[in-house]
Amino acid sequence: MDKMQTASEAVRRLKAEYPVAECTLDYRDAWQLLFNARLAAQCTDKRVNEVAVGLYARFPTLEDFASADVAELEEYIRPTGFFRVKSADLKNCAVLLLAEFGGIVPDNMDDLLRLPGVGRKVANLILGDVYHKPGAVVADTHCIRLSNRLGLCDTADPKKVELALRELLDPAESNDFCHRLVLHGRAVCQARSPRCAACSLADLCPSAGRTV
Ligand code: SF4
Repeated sequence: MDKMQTASEAVRRLKAEYPVAECTLDYRDAWQLLFNARLAAQCTDKRVNEVAVGLYARFPTLEDFASADVAELEEYIRPTGFFRVKSADLKNCAVLLLAEFGGIVPDNMDDLLRLPGVGRKVANLILGDVYHKPGAVVADTHCIRLSNRLGLCDTADPKKVELALRELLDPAESNDFCHRLVLHGRAVCQARSPRCAACSLADLCPSAGRTV
């Protein structure tokens, strides 16, 4: 099986195994997904979802974030770690969204990458989950680990993984496939002790039984 066939078969099997492919961050508006994805750096989605409840109750609009007292904002964001830089990013992001984008999260990579704290991973998440653009590839830690183990790429560089997967995947499937890699990475193909014996991809995977 070549890489494209492996990717296609992995898409098919994970789709059957995880029919619901969604981001595990809660959000009501696109800008909240943007903010939550920023808060999720070096933090679990579960913790972000807990913090988000109080955060958006206190700051329900972009205008509230743009005019927020930084010290107060930091107290809300503190449990997610790196709270000073994250607070500054959210406030500055709100200011820029209001000043240049009419309060609307952009629908293209170039404009998304202009926003404070937004890199390609978060930008792809917005393009795929909010705007349903084909070809979105969210190269997070699970995606990178599983793609390497499956032999779909041979690099830990997120942008190179993103570009490699884009070459292999049906654009209509790539965004959901990345969500499914997260689910499979949490449930089966964990970083330290992958459960290859229980893995639906084992016969496709060159790392099966060999990864420690
Ligand atoms: S066979 Fe093992 S290493 Fe390969 S994807 Fe499955 S759990 Fe991960």
